[in-house]
Amino acid sequence: MPSGRVHNLTNIAVYSVLAAGVLVASRQELLNITPVQALTFTLGFFVGTFLLSPDLDLAEGRVDSKRRWGVLGFLWVPYGMLFSHRGLSHTWLLGPLTRLAYLAVIVGLIAGLLRFVWPGVPLPSIPQPISLKVLLPLLLGYYLSQWLHLLADGVRPDHGMRHARRKVRGRG
Ligand SMILES: [Zn+2]
Repeated sequence: MPSGRVHNLTNIAVYSVLAAGVLVASRQELLNITPVQALTFTLGFFVGTFLLSPDLDLAEGRVDSKRRWGVLGFLWVPYGMLFSHRGLSHTWLLGPLTRLAYLAVIVGLIAGLLRFVWPGVPLPSIPQPISLKVLLPLLLGYYLSQWLHLLADGVRPDHGMRHARRKVRGRG
């Protein structure tokens, strides 16, 4: 299994090549990407690379992706206990969603707790409605960062299905 460092370097390298390609294509007017789209894609990509890595499924122990959260790293311990290493967390479609959903639950719990302790607490709100123009590049960047991790791990896109089939066969 590649270490966290190898994953980070792979992702940064692919991002650099992609950014250079996009820059050249934009100059040639083959592509039309707005600065906001480029920025949200980049944000999704690096949050995915450094903060929401699939290897958070090891967060019950010591792992790079947890350490990067600093004092908040402990918040990922339940995720590490819930998800076995390279199981559902390392699938192509659902895997990245499990981390987004987990994060949403944690943020919701913390916000709820804050409101309970301090009813007038000023919490930042999500601007409504979230524009697809912002959401799509954000998700694209996030998913690409996750898929590069899975490719480096040697996990194929049908990993989840093979996993499920094996389970069914094992039972039968
Ligand atoms: Zn991994």
